Amino acid sequence: MMPSSTRKGVPKDPELAELFFKDDPEEVFCDLHEIGHGSFGAVYFARNSYSNEVVAIKKMSYHGKQTTEKWQDIIKEVKFLGQLRHPNTIEYKGCYLKDNTAWLVMEYCLGSASDLLEVHKKPLQEVEIAAITHGALLGLAYLHSHNMIHRDVKAGNILLTELGQVKLADFGSASIASPANSFVGTPYWMAPEVILAMDEGQYEGKVDIWSLGITCIELAERKPPLFNMNAMSALYHIAQNDSPTLQSNEWSDPFRSFVDYCLQKFPQDRPSSGELLRHDFVRRERSPRILMDLIQRTKDAVRELDNLQYRKMKKILYQEKHNGPMGESQEDEEVGGRGFKEITWK
Ligand code: ADP
Ligand code: MG
Repeated sequence: MMPSSTRKGVPKDPELAELFFKDDPEEVFCDLHEIGHGSFGAVYFARNSYSNEVVAIKKMSYHGKQTTEKWQDIIKEVKFLGQLRHPNTIEYKGCYLKDNTAWLVMEYCLGSASDLLEVHKKPLQEVEIAAITHGALLGLAYLHSHNMIHRDVKAGNILLTELGQVKLADFGSASIASPANSFVGTPYWMAPEVILAMDEGQYEGKVDIWSLGITCIELAERKPPLFNMNAMSALYHIAQNDSPTLQSNEWSDPFRSFVDYCLQKFPQDRPSSGELLRHDFVRRERSPRILMDLIQRTKDAVRELDNLQYRKMKKILYQEKHNGPMGESQEDEEVGGRGFKEITWK
């Protein structure tokens, strides 16, 4: 429990204080490298100096404008993460406070499904999409069975681990209650009823199923539908027009039908996560190595990227550099940006 401490940063309210470790995160974690960026700040690769464990840290600051709102958002996300216990949701390891910044510590993932698209510059294969979708759907079924809604499902928030496990991440928009009614999410992936809930009614977990359908199209076509429109026009279009479908007819019937089910405009016609887990698209047999192979291919592709792209994507190789057989240090990378690759041996 909370010591009678007035130590800087630790809230006095015991119920809140319980959410945070009292240690100085700058002493606990070392080797921080930025791996992602969001509205709140940045996400870092880091290592626990005592246990050597590799982790991801999302730093969220709460000073400057709207301090109270930012603090409320942090508390919400920390509480949400603390409740999650499922192999397909990101594992939360605790939170620290320092200098008006919360350090949310999570298990480390190599990158998001959106990072994979960016490295390969082409759509994923259907079996790969099926494996990622299956993992995400298991995570959603877990959330929905606990009356939680993710509300921001998209390739950028579906992470993959070194071992090819699929993890739902980014619970900054999630709702601990269903039904909900606020206008939350990322426009292109938003379900019609979320957009319409702006002035009428409520919605529930089915909004995540819609976003999962859009994510399937994103993985198959590299961008969600309407991505060339501005966000406002896209919202109007989603609410008013027919649902999008997969463009190419080279995809299998189960895949097309899965996407069509997810994208039923009326939530009552849309299957639940439990029902979709029985769909052929995710149930069809596939090699258990599919995602491990995809990750291996991605790492190989990162090593071949040109300098600018490499800088952006080298995070995919961080964990390997720490745990891998070579045991290389990272510092040499930081200086030249490119380590060996950049040097021409003559
Ligand atoms: P935001 O709310 O700004 O979208 P996210 O939680 O989605 O924040 O994190 C932003 C990015 O940071 C993600 O898209 C991903 O690339 C990276 N990231 C987040 N969490 C992790 C993690 N646990 N392991 C590896 N990368 C992560
Ligand atoms: Mg995100």
